[in-house]
Amino acid sequence: MSEYVSICEVGPRDGLQIAKTRMTTDDKIAWIDSLAAAGIPEIEVGSFVPPRVIPQLSDTPEIVARILAKNPCWVLQVLAPNLRGAQNAYNAGVHKIAMPISVSEGHSKANLNRTPADSIAMMRDVMGWMKEQDRHVPVIVGASTAFGCSIDGVVTTRQTVALCKGLVDAGVEHIMLADTVGYAHPAQVREVVRAVRSEIGPAVYGLHLHDTCGLGIANALAGLEEGIRAFDSCLAGLGGCPYAPGASGNVVTEDLVFMLESMGFTTGIDIPKLFEARALLHAGLPAEPLSGQLPKAGIPPTFRKAA
Ligand code: ZN
Repeated sequence: MSEYVSICEVGPRDGLQIAKTRMTTDDKIAWIDSLAAAGIPEIEVGSFVPPRVIPQLSDTPEIVARILAKNPCWVLQVLAPNLRGAQNAYNAGVHKIAMPISVSEGHSKANLNRTPADSIAMMRDVMGWMKEQDRHVPVIVGASTAFGCSIDGVVTTRQTVALCKGLVDAGVEHIMLADTVGYAHPAQVREVVRAVRSEIGPAVYGLHLHDTCGLGIANALAGLEEGIRAFDSCLAGLGGCPYAPGASGNVVTEDLVFMLESMGFTTGIDIPKLFEARALLHAGLPAEPLSGQLPKAGIPPTFRKAA
């Protein structure tokens, strides 16, 4: 049996938040349905932030309600910036909640208007509140700027380890190491994954990688070789961070799935159907440039899906 790698498609959230044009709610739902039809097991469909902060995602509550009404057989995740957002997401019935907590002071203040220490205290409240609820909804904390910051510059491994340790002490169970601005390189990915894991063990959940400098796939491979089995990615490499100047898109889902399946890791994802989802994305956002090598090259005749 091949080993399974879990992909969370974050295009409808990370991808759309800085898109120059807006996708209609109906187009978003059609696109999300096509991503699910391609076999993507987890999809981050939006963000429970105040509508004025990210207008592109202001329809998230409606998207969540309409999708949950169809009883999806995949995991519906949303992002929440604070306790209130997490409570709203929980009450909306989502399956999983992602919460970004910055390692670097500068990104933390710009993105979340608080210090990393304040964020750790906040996560203690969030995890405490979650424990009191009837339904178990996993919370994945994205340790943003874990590999570098466009505002503060260098982020040391020690800083990232310290934040992750603080989060785990506050009750957090799953941490996604996030290269929010895409400055990481493979040797650094190895170093940070090892250092954080030696401090917090299996709470290291996965990697969220951006392709700013073209190393997204190389960084994913480094993580894979370090035993990481969960990745965020974006169809067509959409994405960025409104508070991280210079950040470009996420690692491309199509390319990542191709690499994993070619190497013998199962993802449950069908690449031709991903191309169909890509066409729907283009139909909904015609002005947005789409990245990805595999879609340009086509699937090579030598390709075999992992069995
Ligand atoms: Zn991101």
